[in-house]
Amino acid sequence: MLKQVLQEIEQRQRFLLTSHARPDGDAIGSALACSQILRLMGKEAEVVLRDGVPRIYQPLPFADTVITTDRVNGKYEAAIILECDSVQRTRLQGLEDRFLINIDHHLSGRPFAHVNWIEPQAVATAELVYKLAREAGVKISPEIATCIYTAVLTDTGSFMFEGTNEHTFALARELVLAGANPAHCARSVYFGHSTAKLRLLGAALSNLHREGALAWIWVTQEQMQAAGAKEEDCEGLVNYALSIYDVEVAAFFRELPDRRFRVSLRSKGKLNVSTIAEHFGGGGHQCASGCSLDGPLSIAVARVVEQLRARQPLQ
Ligand code: 5GP
Repeated sequence: MLKQVLQEIEQRQRFLLTSHARPDGDAIGSALACSQILRLMGKEAEVVLRDGVPRIYQPLPFADTVITTDRVNGKYEAAIILECDSVQRTRLQGLEDRFLINIDHHLSGRPFAHVNWIEPQAVATAELVYKLAREAGVKISPEIATCIYTAVLTDTGSFMFEGTNEHTFALARELVLAGANPAHCARSVYFGHSTAKLRLLGAALSNLHREGALAWIWVTQEQMQAAGAKEEDCEGLVNYALSIYDVEVAAFFRELPDRRFRVSLRSKGKLNVSTIAEHFGGGGHQCASGCSLDGPLSIAVARVVEQLRARQPLQ
């Protein structure tokens, strides 16, 4: 499939690169790295996203060239959709009639595009972008290495999630040799938070609930406003609930402006939380998945907790 993706790229000149709305480190890192690789191949490439680059990823090379919009208008010969398991999750209009190339590592990834390169065993989509560069004979510049390294760092939960193995460290080694600076990348990601995010964390932790091996936290719109927090400030809060020694699965509920709830699910590995996210129309990975549910909060929590309770590894 890698060869076919490369062939499709070689036959075209102008590309749009995109990923899911509310982009995370892998979405941003993959798209930025891939755009640089295409440019080194003599192509034109623009990264277009529905939502802006979160604060912690803004120091990445070329992050300031990302176009934020909800409608794609340009004359692109193909759109490369990275780290995103459907056109809908880009939340971009105007992709429908274009030639689509899908590069992804989601377990729940569907072959929605004209060409679909899905490798669930890759720890990050950026790992596939790295393979693409190698296959194309493109030299990994320090900038490309920095974007891919940051994507791998964040999508493996700092090399902590299940699936992180010797290949991950071999990849990290090659990226460092190519010019990625681990301390700089980690500094932006882990020491680049806003004050509002920390205030929001305080509110979320004051809502901590426990039941057996489960833990869940939430934030309401009111709490987000009181903290002065943005949507992106919610990223990673679920990990604090998961960090408790006897918790196997954690959930984070975020109230949306329309009173629905976004749910982030995280597992230490015994339970595959993507099946629960899929049950509610979402998706993701074995140890990290997400979905949306109607409110009110008490009902949303009850529905998710009921599904979690029923799963064997937690009983
Ligand atoms: P997060 O909890 O950080 O929003 O998402 C964790 C993982 O689940 C990410 O890999 C993300 O792409 C995936 N994910 C989150 N929400 C959804 C969703 O609504 N649908 C699908 N298919 N995947 C999701």
